[in-house]
Amino acid sequence: MFSKEISKICAYCEHSKMLASGRAVICNKKKELLAPNGVCSSYRYDPLKRSPAAKNG
Ligand code: SF4
Repeated sequence: MFSKEISKICAYCEHSKMLASGRAVICNKKKELLAPNGVCSSYRYDPLKRSPAAKNG
């Protein structure tokens, strides 16, 4: 039912911030604009980023 394997991508990383367009993220670690589906060795999963409607987190 639920996938146990969560994609390691910048969009779900705690260091990223998604732009309003949803087409790129700003990485606070690298201070760069990156594709949401990228990843690096500093990736840290942020569960709140998985749900676009996470308002009460
Ligand atoms: S580049 Fe690395 S640290 Fe930055 S958002 Fe992507 S995975 Fe996270």
